[in-house]
Amino acid sequence: MTQTTPTARIIPRDQHGVSRKLISENALKVIHRLNEKGYSAFLVGGSIRDIMLGEQPKDFDVSTDAHPEEVHRLFRNSRMIGRRFKIVHILFGREIIEVATFRGPAAKEHKEHKRSEEGMLLRDNNYGTLEDDVMRRDFTSNALYYSPKDFCVYDFVGGVEDIQAKTLRMIGEPEVRYPEDPVRMLRALRFKSKLGFSIESGAAQAIHEHSQLIENVAAARLFDEIIKLFVSGYGDQIFTDLIAYGLFTHLFPAVSHTLDSDERKTFYLKFIRAGLQNTDKRIRQDKPITPAFLYAVLLWPEVDRIWRNKVAQGASDFPALQEAAHIAVQQQLPSITIPKRFSLMMKEIWEFQIRLTRTRGKAPKQLLTHKRFRAAYDFLLLRERAGEDLNELGQWWTQFQAQHPELVGSAKDKPERKPVSNRRRPRRGKGPKKGD
Ligand code: ATP
Ligand code: MG
Repeated sequence: MTQTTPTARIIPRDQHGVSRKLISENALKVIHRLNEKGYSAFLVGGSIRDIMLGEQPKDFDVSTDAHPEEVHRLFRNSRMIGRRFKIVHILFGREIIEVATFRGPAAKEHKEHKRSEEGMLLRDNNYGTLEDDVMRRDFTSNALYYSPKDFCVYDFVGGVEDIQAKTLRMIGEPEVRYPEDPVRMLRALRFKSKLGFSIESGAAQAIHEHSQLIENVAAARLFDEIIKLFVSGYGDQIFTDLIAYGLFTHLFPAVSHTLDSDERKTFYLKFIRAGLQNTDKRIRQDKPITPAFLYAVLLWPEVDRIWRNKVAQGASDFPALQEAAHIAVQQQLPSITIPKRFSLMMKEIWEFQIRLTRTRGKAPKQLLTHKRFRAAYDFLLLRERAGEDLNELGQWWTQFQAQHPELVGSAKDKPERKPVSNRRRPRRGKGPKKGD
């Protein structure tokens, strides 16, 4: 498909099943307001796709010919965000309606589009028509527009058919569209699992060919995109696909190497999958997930491998683990930025793996009260589930918690950082153990 001007198939109300009842009131309000002021505005993207699939949309995005400044001026409860491409967030309590201005064509010669040597769009901020906007979207199923003015769905790219056939089809040439924005490869795998679609073969093949381009994406953006993959409720399946499509090795090079070649690789793979399955289950139960736990799981093979090596070379347990944790995080940072607050939490979860081996004296009760206890205990259970023999330590903690349910996490509200001297010494009892 080339970037010629597309024509729309206009699908009337009685033929598309997108009922207004399923659409956010606030999104409709925003569109009405824009229409009133003479702008065109549509509901677009995932929300229309999800409604057509009978799913509850996660959020509602609006696309308009009004410029961001104009949108911002029209809505007091709005803020302009974004550097690469300005968009407007309109806030209604906890709901945010995202309003984007139609994007212009990404033609190679356009002065507003600067590309890297590999074809990635570095600057991307010119506006266009509705037809231009359609061609800038990633997959046909994400490029349906709905107008509450005439209740019609506008389909320029065969998106309705593809949704019915559960096919994820790239708009335009995958050879151009992935290099333009390599994150689209991650999006493809997310939609494949989340929607149960199959990726059209050309678009699937092109991921194998372009997987290394994911390394060119800003490390901070990748942090967000990776989290989206693993909190989709299909993390385990997506992880398997990331490996199969050759992306994982470019995202987590050190972990990937360990999963390929370490003598404990089978255990490590099982461990990560158990962690992701556990997360998937929590998502289905509407339980909270912290990125720190996810990344603690994903990097554990490296931490564990380095830790074991150091101990084998004579280092003592706790400092060796701390050093391994530091190295594993540092190794990961060039690819994916892990914000400090999360890496600190990850280190606590890992260090707890030693602290949890103390089952005598006063230590267990104190550990139970710690705000990180629950996460660390869950992590310990995963290690056992993956086949590590820890002498039934997990079961010991399960029983101990059952005896003192009121203590679990009870120190949560205390200040995060007490002075070190205060926190440590007094409760030691009989001589300090290394590295608490
Ligand atoms: P969900 O919100 O369920 O994850 P979505 O399709 O709504 O899925 P968003 O990230 O909310 O995804 O983006 C909204 C729409 O913007 C998409 O449907 C797609 O049309 C377009 N879009 C988002 N990211 C890209 C991208 N990297 N390249 C091209 N189009 C994109
Ligand atoms: Mg969305």
